[in-house]
Amino acid sequence: MLYGALEAGGTKMICAIGNENGQILDQTSIPTSTPDETMPAVIEYFKAKIAPDLPEEDRIVALGIACFGPVDVRPKSKTYGYILNTPKIPWRNFPMVQTMQDALNIPVGFDTDVNGSLLGEATWGCAQGLTDAVYFTIGTGIGMGAMSGGNLIHGMLHPEAGHLIMSRVEGDNYKGHCPNHAACFEGMASGPAIQDRWGKPAKDLKDMPEVWELEAKYIAQALMDITMTLSPQKIILGGGVMSQTQLFPLVRKYVAEYINDYITTKELRNMNAYITPAALNGNQGIMGAIKLAVMAAEAEA
Ligand code: ADP
Ligand code: ZN
Repeated sequence: MLYGALEAGGTKMICAIGNENGQILDQTSIPTSTPDETMPAVIEYFKAKIAPDLPEEDRIVALGIACFGPVDVRPKSKTYGYILNTPKIPWRNFPMVQTMQDALNIPVGFDTDVNGSLLGEATWGCAQGLTDAVYFTIGTGIGMGAMSGGNLIHGMLHPEAGHLIMSRVEGDNYKGHCPNHAACFEGMASGPAIQDRWGKPAKDLKDMPEVWELEAKYIAQALMDITMTLSPQKIILGGGVMSQTQLFPLVRKYVAEYINDYITTKELRNMNAYITPAALNGNQGIMGAIKLAVMAAEAEA
């Protein structure tokens, strides 16, 4: 069976075709400008994969969408499948699911981009077999997907752990980069916050150990809080900032320090496996979207 997968991001829309094993068989990328410009191209890509003249086995049977947010993922809500009050103004209140469902008339699965990445990792990557795990992306923004008892968490909307309040690290007087909060995780530790604090893009600061010491302390605070609240079996870290791989040992060290032996589990005794990079080579999001499509097809059957 073939499935359509859309990883809807703030800069690009990755459109792909995959199978039930998570194999990506075709892929294209379309810039995210405005819905009027972008969506016709996205629709055209998938429409070609449901064309009646295609042999049945070459048609997609469902579409999965992992979408930048905030988004409405509450199936019973009137605005289910809408992008909500995103800073990307043209996309505010855009009915993503409805638009694709109207265009393709196949089952559509939908979740946040970070839940999508986590789902990809839980299905085919480093979180296989786990019931409780979280995925953080630390890039332009900070977001977290979470799975508890085998289910992706939504709750009243969806978690927004990029806005956990941080304790300021002593000596750090940076005002913060979040318009809503004085010192939240995203405001203190996102890529743009690093650039704003240090006056250079994060990728050009590799040789300044103090940058990554401070960054690791903020990341570790968030991971400590999530460890204590959600009790995940694994924490996966992705996003552009985490391509600074020297962060991993520092983050593990500070998380252990902050937990301070308050709890001891086999997971926490193996910090290298507890706090880990994504394992699907940047394909975790689009593979998660394939799985969302598989789940949507199953729900309809
Ligand atoms: P997005 O969050 O926009 O979906 P990314 O996760 O790739 O995409 O994050 C991009 C951000 O990550 C950039 O704005 C920059 O701040 C940061 N970044 C990108 N590459 C690096 C790098 N090599 N080292 C540190 N930070 C980086
Ligand atoms: Zn914030």
